[in-house]
Amino acid sequence: MNIHEYQAKAVLAKYGVAVPKGFPAFTPDEAVEAAKKLGGPVYVVKAQIHAGGRGKAGGVKVVKSLDDVKSEATRLLGSTLVTHQTGPAGKQVNRLYIEEGSSIARELYLSVLVDRATSRIAFIVSTEGGMDIEEVAHSTPEKILTFSIDPASGVSSFHGRKVAFALGLEGDLNAQAVALVDKLYKAFVAEDMAQLEINPLVVTGDNKLVCLDAKVGFDDNALYRHKDIVELRDITEEDPAEVEASKYDLNYVKLDGKIGCMVNGAGLAMATMDIIKYYGSEPANFLDVGGGATKEKVTAAFKIILSDKNVEGILVNIFGGIMRCDIIAEGVIAAAKEVSLKVPLVVRLEGTNVELGKKIMAESGLPIISADNLADAAEKIVKAVKEAA
Ligand code: ADP
Ligand code: MG
Repeated sequence: MNIHEYQAKAVLAKYGVAVPKGFPAFTPDEAVEAAKKLGGPVYVVKAQIHAGGRGKAGGVKVVKSLDDVKSEATRLLGSTLVTHQTGPAGKQVNRLYIEEGSSIARELYLSVLVDRATSRIAFIVSTEGGMDIEEVAHSTPEKILTFSIDPASGVSSFHGRKVAFALGLEGDLNAQAVALVDKLYKAFVAEDMAQLEINPLVVTGDNKLVCLDAKVGFDDNALYRHKDIVELRDITEEDPAEVEASKYDLNYVKLDGKIGCMVNGAGLAMATMDIIKYYGSEPANFLDVGGGATKEKVTAAFKIILSDKNVEGILVNIFGGIMRCDIIAEGVIAAAKEVSLKVPLVVRLEGTNVELGKKIMAESGLPIISADNLADAAEKIVKAVKEAA
């Protein structure tokens, strides 16, 4: 789960991390009120969306008067920002963060993540802050320092000094870096973060190390122990179909192709997507209905698949192990009738009560195309979609 910049800064501030003062705002008037509380003389109006690259897209504005705060807030609220991280459709701006302006001497980069290769928490730092870190990694990898922390011994001042050295921070800034690394590590572990990116981490004109931007993602599997974090969820930032799917405990991920897939089991779902590609088309989604799919779940899954305008055909691939194929068949028929299905539907069933399942489908009167195995199913749906087009 991801949160907004202003929320991430509030979480970090709890651990004593230095962030600029600021207030969220949902209307231009609230933006002006926030700016008045900050007092100026420099204000920053920042669009809050779950994507970076806002600065280059006009979503971060440094201004010097309350009138400018108001006009920038009016311009941004309700507008759609397209950044290199949002995709071409962009994201609508529904909230702002009004922050005090910092004088910037240097912009640095720091991120913390879970490194699966070492099974440890890793720090990545670079002198090239404010830039796209992927670009830095590609063209000047020597400007990036990466190290991981042994969970048995935890974080120590040695790690902080390593960061300070890599970033060229001396004297009091060295001490600030040591303190910062300690606090960030502790926040990361205590809050079960999956990712923490500070870009830029700045050295201010008066020699303070301050987090000017913050992007935080949490480990979904640990959210049950962070009720306060769960409350920060902003579902307007998430894909509506994925939000709907999570209500029914369906694992759905939207993709760009035209063949909707309904499968039980993540491995079988992956194999189904692969074989659709093998027969020359593209899957419209990943969807794992899980082991105990009920009629309600199958209907919900159908509706979610069809809510995607790109879907021109559906492939249902179910292996009835604990599930019985006759139950699945009834679910599929009920769902197809309820949503008055207009696109071709290929169903491949295998496992317990498969003959009964096939019989129920054949007798349903619906134009369901039955398939005998995975390859047959993929070939049939790709062909049916081509013919329907
Ligand atoms: P994004 O990464 O989405 O572009 P940032 O928060 O990193 O957004 O802001 C982009 C740039 O705007 C920063 O690199 C910095 O130069 C400037 N900026 C952001 N916040 C402030 C601030 N409080 N004071 C001064 N400049 C800022
Ligand atoms: Mg940034």
